[in-house]
Amino acid sequence: MKTKELETVPSQQKHENKDFKTEIIQKVCCPNCGSKCERHYICERQICRTSCANCDYLMINCTRTGKVIEAYAPGIYASK
Ligand SMILES: [Zn+2]
Repeated sequence: MKTKELETVPSQQKHENKDFKTEIIQKVCCPNCGSKCERHYICERQICRTSCANCDYLMINCTRTGKVIEAYAPGIYASK
């Protein structure tokens, strides 16, 4: 007799938690345009996200290694 392999495995799919569980928000100055922007520390994912609404600057760092995960600054890539 075969062992039943197709068990009802609970879904491993985790939904992106939109709740601000462990997020620290710090007011910083935008390194690109100098205006006030916010730095979000998402402790759960060990990342730090700095985004500026004024100039679309974006920087995502790993808080553990300091490594840049994603960075975008208008003006840097747009060469005229
Ligand atoms: Zn800015």
